[in-house]
Amino acid sequence: MRHARFRMAAAAVLLAGGLAACGDAGNDDAEGVDVEVAENAADEFDDGTRMKELAEDGNIVIGVKFDQPGIGFKGATDDAPVGFDPEIGKILAADLGIAAEDITWKETISDNREPFLESGEVDLVIASYSITDERREVVGQAGPYYVTGQQLLVRSDSDIDSLDDVKGTEVCSVTGSTSLENIEAEGARPRGFDTYSECVDQVLNGTVDAMTTDGAILLGYAAENADQLKVVVEPFSEERYGVGYSLEAPEMCQWIVDTITEAQEDGAWDEAFQATLGQSGVETPEPPAMDECPA
Ligand code: GLU
Repeated sequence: MRHARFRMAAAAVLLAGGLAACGDAGNDDAEGVDVEVAENAADEFDDGTRMKELAEDGNIVIGVKFDQPGIGFKGATDDAPVGFDPEIGKILAADLGIAAEDITWKETISDNREPFLESGEVDLVIASYSITDERREVVGQAGPYYVTGQQLLVRSDSDIDSLDDVKGTEVCSVTGSTSLENIEAEGARPRGFDTYSECVDQVLNGTVDAMTTDGAILLGYAAENADQLKVVVEPFSEERYGVGYSLEAPEMCQWIVDTITEAQEDGAWDEAFQATLGQSGVETPEPPAMDECPA
């Protein structure tokens, strides 16, 4: 495995002031963190592995979110998405000798992540994708590379400050997410949309009083709309973000784990976090220990 050596060149991101200061999705001039691309990467992988194929092709298709500031965001006129998930994608691609500009970014929504992996539409999914036993039945998930937990997003003047306050009321979230199932289990009436940005609009325009998903996602929206929105309640679930891959290429698991572990050790993970989620006010955590890959 090649080492995707990291070099901090995220001045544009940091100087842009990030989400909180810009009041937009934080990607003005932001190119993210510059990752040094491995040379002769194909030589490092065994014949017949998906990694070798990708390294030889020099292109990889990665599914990310396009509407979640801090996690994965791409404005209509932007060339590439920015956020912690694309940064993880760039670290993985660099290890295959693939530069950021040679990554094909494909928008995934929560509900099509497994289908996209199963059909080969994407090589990897890095899209606020919680590891679950059910998902691991149909796709591979390596990680976790980050752990967050479900909370609520409400208007700044809302009195909602506990889960009891939303029992029996309509709370929006996204179809195909763990969030929708979890909030139903908490006794709220779930209302599923395709994307979280649609859901935020419902809260902003008063159609619903609360939305729910992972705190890391909600903090991105709150940072964008600091005067209108706030995140409430202690996290009531554990969401362990994994990198999705096809079960037809099980060898990808150990490569993903090893590459991310190196990034955690050499500071690349940390810098990527600070340049993205860190800008929406999420404190940089200790990187989580990752699961062992299936034998
Ligand atoms: N992490 C949760 C999930 O994978 C919620 C966020 C999302 O839908 O992307 O279902």
